[in-house]
Amino acid sequence: MNALLDGLNPEQRAAVTTTDGPLLVIAGAGSGKTRVIVHRIAYLLDQGLARPEQILAVTFTNKAALEMKTRVHQLLPPSRRYGELLVATFHSFCVRVLRRHLDRFGGSYTRDFTIYDTDDQGRLIKACLKELQIDEKQFPPRMIQYAISRAKNQGETPETLAPASDPKRDAILKTFRLYEMRLAAANALDFDDLLLMTVRLLRQFPDVADAYQNRFRYILIDEYQDTNPPQFNLVRLLTQRHQNLCVVGDPDQSIYRFRAADIRNILEFERHYPRAKTIVLAQNYRSTKVILQAANAVIRHNRARREKQLTTQNPVGEPIRGLIAPTAEAEADLVVEALLQWQRQRSHLPEAETRAAILYRTNAQSRLFEEACRRRGVPYVLVGGFSFYQRAEIKDALAYLRLLLNPHDDAAFERIINVPARGIGKATLEIITARAARDGLSRWTAMEQVLAEGALNPRAATALAGFAGLIRDLQARLEGSPLSTLVSAVVNRSGYLDMLAQEGTLEAESRRQNLEELVTAAAEADERGASLREFLDQAALVSDTDDLVDNARVTLMTIHSAKGLEFPLVFVVGLEEGLFPHARVVDDGEELEEERRLFYVAITRARHQLYLTQAQRRRVYGEERITDPSRFLEEVPEQIVQFEAVPSSSGGVTQSPLSYGAPYGAPASPSAAKPAVELPRSQPAASTAEGFRLGDRVEHATYGAGQVVRVADGKLDIAFPGKGIKRFVAAAAPLTKL
Ligand code: ATP
Ligand code: MG
Repeated sequence: MNALLDGLNPEQRAAVTTTDGPLLVIAGAGSGKTRVIVHRIAYLLDQGLARPEQILAVTFTNKAALEMKTRVHQLLPPSRRYGELLVATFHSFCVRVLRRHLDRFGGSYTRDFTIYDTDDQGRLIKACLKELQIDEKQFPPRMIQYAISRAKNQGETPETLAPASDPKRDAILKTFRLYEMRLAAANALDFDDLLLMTVRLLRQFPDVADAYQNRFRYILIDEYQDTNPPQFNLVRLLTQRHQNLCVVGDPDQSIYRFRAADIRNILEFERHYPRAKTIVLAQNYRSTKVILQAANAVIRHNRARREKQLTTQNPVGEPIRGLIAPTAEAEADLVVEALLQWQRQRSHLPEAETRAAILYRTNAQSRLFEEACRRRGVPYVLVGGFSFYQRAEIKDALAYLRLLLNPHDDAAFERIINVPARGIGKATLEIITARAARDGLSRWTAMEQVLAEGALNPRAATALAGFAGLIRDLQARLEGSPLSTLVSAVVNRSGYLDMLAQEGTLEAESRRQNLEELVTAAAEADERGASLREFLDQAALVSDTDDLVDNARVTLMTIHSAKGLEFPLVFVVGLEEGLFPHARVVDDGEELEEERRLFYVAITRARHQLYLTQAQRRRVYGEERITDPSRFLEEVPEQIVQFEAVPSSSGGVTQSPLSYGAPYGAPASPSAAKPAVELPRSQPAASTAEGFRLGDRVEHATYGAGQVVRVADGKLDIAFPGKGIKRFVAAAAPLTKL
């Protein structure tokens, strides 16, 4: 038998060898779906069914892509070359395609387009709001940003959306229209566009579509349950000719609805691809019997699902441990303590067998665990925190580089025109912005015009000309200099390093070191033979989980980032009503089921030991609250959990029976962000409940005066100064309008 098929069970083997036509592999967590993809690629190559460049495999993160490629290589004889094998994320695949063909659209689009990240997007939205004189307080930029992204992913454009009849929709629609115009003028694409434009490209230019359809004989997609409509369309277009599509996924792990993922893509696969075969994997290789039993019991509470049988031949294992701590600080200490003890008991084992993960619902929860780790001297890795490429000085340096390649990149322009300060004042900027808005120009072109007209006062003109000269000068070095020289020239000639030197603080010194590190990264890119374009693309596409360090003893991350991963020891923390499940989704059937799937994903990351923890008191917006245990805790069969309550010193905190706990503050990363507002499509939004609207001032019988900050599904979130935000059922709350 083929050696590639050893180490696979009969169903997995069938999934690897059924190479012709569409194939759906549907299975629960830890059943070897990702393993099937790896072996299938190796099998296709080994059997000569495809050359490496004829295969496309899509994973959820860059890191997973890299790992998959490595594992394929390990399965194959080293003598052959598989360099052309394309394992990518949807986004990085699209960037490759667009770098070759975006200019086909003509207009301001060239192959040197810029990728706008969430930050750049936010800046642009704010600029649009300002230009349209829309009040940011009434219509928060984040809400608008989310609504626009959602609309785009559902295939809407400003033209297809019905005219707005209420103020919110009107604000969204107007901003959407201007936002799209400004993006195009800047020759920039946001993350959503990467997919949408690729789909448009393939639809509009049959020769391009033909080339890719012919090339990719086999396409494989991991985590298919989390694909969104543009991704679905892209896959359909790419597979049109050969139809050799293998998708693997688990509907119970669909957790990206807030990014427009559509679970129907996997549930209705057989309808989309009528010739499809389906293979179900039923054996879990990852977890102990106890952990699997907990996972099965929890997910069974969801109604909207197909029942799957998932069993394991692994040992029964240790009971699940439940920890109930008096406070959130104590929870963090107890977790780190338990972790140390667990690892100590296994110090004779290889390190890989003692790795642990602390998983939480929102990024903000990481702080206490970081502090507890530091107190105990435990080295940890934080995923999705403030990663290298998110740092201000790095983003500034990258903005210079972006501007060199694409001077019409408005986000980059705005970011650095006066950083470091070079005497370009607000008034000058406003003249440029107004000109750009009036004539639909990029900031750069507007600046050139303003300069040429000579209408600025001499000081402003000199400062501005100095900036233009600096950029042109650096541009002249693009050809022929290594990247590292270029990056170094940027941070020197721009005056950035001088600025940091003058500051002379410890903080400035650490920023200088980061810039040095960027020069090092550029030197590494030089060694790989990467272009500036490739260097910037890579920086733009770095995602949360790419920070992951394989040999970390402890990894801190959100559950969203933990998808697809496994750890011998897992802590799922903050199991409190209002936190997990999140306050925003309480009582909503579908959203609650998504939260439960998230809990299922969390539990199933664990191989040997699982801890579930709760803090009885937690500070939210500075105010201490008594919490209720998460309903999810009760869904774990009690006979397999060993609870340990740590004595609580009673505090004088009371909780209103009406309060569902506070919705936690906006998480730092999109991986945990769950925006509250969606763009309504054809009918006006229900922006009132029982006569209350956003912004109303109200009086509550117990809490006193407050203001309505959210209205949805008949519920009101009301901010009470000094008391935090509370949620009420509008019809039942003792409220009067002021
Ligand atoms: P998830 O749903 O979490 O993404 P998955 O279905 O992709 O999980 P894998 O990550 O592929 O599962 O596999 C889970 C673990 O089980 C891995 O450690 C893998 O190496 C192991 N495994 C899978 N199949 C087998 C097998 N036939 N024999 C031995 N180990 C296996
Ligand atoms: Mg997997």
